[in-house]
Amino acid sequence: MLMKLYLTLTCFIISTVLTAQTDQRIYDIIDAVSADRIEKDIATLAGFGTRHTLSDTVSKTRGIGAARRWIKSEFEAISKDCNNCLNVFYQKDLVEKGTNQRIVKDVMVVNVVAVQKGTKYPNSYIIMSGDIDSRVSDPTDYTSDSPGANDNASGMAGAIEAARVLSKYTFEHSVVYLGLSGEEQGLFGGKGFAAYAKENNWDIIGVLNNDMIGNITGVDGVIDNRSFRIFSEPVPPTETERQRNARRFYGGEVDGISRQLARYVHNTVETYMPEMNPMMIYRLDRFGRGGHHRPFNDAGYPGIRIMEAHENYTQQHQDIRTEDGIEYGDKLKFVNFDYAKKLTAVNAITMASLAWAPPSPKDVGIGGIVEPSAKLEWSKVNDAKGYKIYWRDTTSPTWDHSRYVDDVTTFTLEGIVIDNFFFGVSAVGEKGHESVVVFPNKIIR
Ligand SMILES: [Zn+2]
Repeated sequence: MLMKLYLTLTCFIISTVLTAQTDQRIYDIIDAVSADRIEKDIATLAGFGTRHTLSDTVSKTRGIGAARRWIKSEFEAISKDCNNCLNVFYQKDLVEKGTNQRIVKDVMVVNVVAVQKGTKYPNSYIIMSGDIDSRVSDPTDYTSDSPGANDNASGMAGAIEAARVLSKYTFEHSVVYLGLSGEEQGLFGGKGFAAYAKENNWDIIGVLNNDMIGNITGVDGVIDNRSFRIFSEPVPPTETERQRNARRFYGGEVDGISRQLARYVHNTVETYMPEMNPMMIYRLDRFGRGGHHRPFNDAGYPGIRIMEAHENYTQQHQDIRTEDGIEYGDKLKFVNFDYAKKLTAVNAITMASLAWAPPSPKDVGIGGIVEPSAKLEWSKVNDAKGYKIYWRDTTSPTWDHSRYVDDVTTFTLEGIVIDNFFFGVSAVGEKGHESVVVFPNKIIR
């Protein structure tokens, strides 16, 4: 009898612990992402001939105008299926001829936006972006065939597919599916949209910019359908001189808001998609190259780039041709749709986890100078059921140790010396979903 009771109790405890760490809906979301639908959408986008930002906007079948109208109509169809849960609109800015060498005529840079409003925090947004536009060898050539199947119909199709899957749920924070233009001409769409978000006082939890999520065969010959890269800059370019100076004494050189977002993606994938190999890349973007998360970073928002681990340069920004037996061009047949599905799922589960989590604590203080213990305190988050204190070796890229605490706003980690680790705090919600970790922004004396 006693034995039986003990067993029952054990089972109960185990199941409680499991629900605190995992949410079945996250696995459902992974399963719902469809490689077939992504393939169809990439084929449709590549089928517009060219999606160059300066290309034709009148034709029904060719050019960026036809492409963006199709993307908008897809979002509208998705919205119809979820009782009009998406607010779909164009956001646009005129970019004048000569703004840079790639703008050879006046152009309206038009983004397509689909917003799924949050029930509790409608002004708090998590954004997944892909790009509408494409290019060939000459960045000003807006008429030649430029399928841009991987760069970046893959990211765009991923955002559309994420909308199909996530629109079946309701979230507490708002979720945005975003198609950006003007990327290849100088990141104009992201710049315009970041300014739009600023004007409308959007609170942005993070931007997950997807740029090339469909190639598994590297130019170096490596074939790998499990690895992918998460690029994040170390600290925001908008930090003040005072913040920069404080970093010398209290740390934080590798702990900016975009880096915490990158760690969040890494941790979510390790929890729910352990077969994947997420790579934390400690830099804004590839060496000397750009992407559409950067204008959001410039505006002070957290933003990262998610992309394949192995690029193939003969299939990027190339005129379609065969030379010395090499087939150049960003063609549909080079895209691996199952891999694009996996990276789309990475985005979808990150957005769902964040959109179901409480907001992050605004302020996190830390103290413990010449003491054997580190003390943390943080501002209360109304909907949090508890908090997670994280720490890691100073040389580790990920938050390797954690301690859950109930609904308190201060805690001392006994026997953990402040000098030897970095620390952070997240808020934990009812179903175990967590906010992004906040690195201390205050010192307790
Ligand atoms: Zn590109």
